[in-house]
Amino acid sequence: MDAKVYVENLLCSLEQNNKGEKEFLDAATEVLTSIVPVLEKDKRYIEEGVLERLVEPERVIMFRVPWIDDNGNVRVNRGYRVQFNSAIGPYKGGLRFHPSVNLSIIKFLGFEQIFKNSLTSLPIGGGKGGSNFDPKGKSDREIMRFCQSFMTELYRHIGENVDVPAGDIGVGGREIGYMYGQYKRIRDSFDGVLTGKGLSYGGSLARTEATGYGLVYLVDEMLRDNGKDFKDKTVVISGSGNVAIYATEKVQALGGKVVALSDSSGYIYDKDGINLDVVKEIKEVKRGRIKEYLNYKKDAVYTEGCKGIWSIKCDIALPCATQNEVDAKSAKLLVSNGVFALGEGANMPLTLEAQKVLLDNNVLFAPAKAANAGGVLTSALEMSQNSQRLSWTFEEVDKKLKELMVNIYYNAKNAAKEYGYEGNLVVGANIAGFLKVADAMLAQGIV
Ligand code: GLU
Repeated sequence: MDAKVYVENLLCSLEQNNKGEKEFLDAATEVLTSIVPVLEKDKRYIEEGVLERLVEPERVIMFRVPWIDDNGNVRVNRGYRVQFNSAIGPYKGGLRFHPSVNLSIIKFLGFEQIFKNSLTSLPIGGGKGGSNFDPKGKSDREIMRFCQSFMTELYRHIGENVDVPAGDIGVGGREIGYMYGQYKRIRDSFDGVLTGKGLSYGGSLARTEATGYGLVYLVDEMLRDNGKDFKDKTVVISGSGNVAIYATEKVQALGGKVVALSDSSGYIYDKDGINLDVVKEIKEVKRGRIKEYLNYKKDAVYTEGCKGIWSIKCDIALPCATQNEVDAKSAKLLVSNGVFALGEGANMPLTLEAQKVLLDNNVLFAPAKAANAGGVLTSALEMSQNSQRLSWTFEEVDKKLKELMVNIYYNAKNAAKEYGYEGNLVVGANIAGFLKVADAMLAQGIV
């Protein structure tokens, strides 16, 4: 059968079987349509049902998470872990705590994770989890009780050679610490079962910085490969969490000027360039809102709402907040304001339509699977250190991160060229990520 028709049919039945799961269906559509040239070249992927197996998670776990708030009220959230694919290594991927979390979002993130993790060149499969719990406004004790309850169910499904969760939106060092403590208490075993751990109990140096730094390393390589760089360029970054903060730090180190950051309430614009120490104080120490930047810098401008950030004129845009934050309209605005490169720090921050606008206008575009792989890549380095019972220096980890991000760029670039899509890193990243997993699945038989 014609590969294109085969993929169209498969997407149709996927829609039937996963009704209403928009985020997951979008992610699957992007990957499956871009690997058509691979299927045309090697029919075994169709004959052995690799795609049908790939879109079906190996296991989906959903569970009740009861906890008690500071006023003594019983609260209940829903927990998830989607163990999507273990063909090339133990399931690996973050936990997201955010009120928007549902099965579709966790499946989309888990599906993306398979290919992202494959691109890192390290032996990690794909998984994702989380809860619709909202950490905003919760006390430290409430966060601890929630994390303990979450792990009291999750512990039985994970293990250092089975599934190794980490952080994502709403899950940082504090939450990983509480969950690790509970896991260790139940299992009575000091395992490298979570990554993003604190440095005193098995965490890796440079893990905190890794996603943001990695994003900038990859985008910098893409720029250089096209005769450009970050020096003196105006950069807009959305978000103000872990990814955005360390992307800003690295852009500034390379001589770029970051003029805007945001959170889920609004964005700040500072024409002189963002003062990162102030942002770190607000976000990492006080756990406050980005609006508080105005208390430190009177002539900065704060605007309510998130979309407006894309109307700021810039040379390079790095969306680092969340999925679907840049739609076609925002992408058109960016293009008409002269943006020449965009790197996705968040997972799928551009809608499929927005991606198309950038590609049609020859904007250099680094897709999330490649561009934000630095976090999970460094998590895999944390796993290696835990297995060795050693810890490497910051410089060692950072050097490996940089080398592997540069490799990801060229792997994606070369795969795109080989299959007739020169310059299209979306297709290139999908193909390069797919091939390793698909070949492992072929070798392991119909399982
Ligand atoms: N949540 C991050 C991601 O989206 C990191 C996952 C990990 O370190 O396992 O890739």
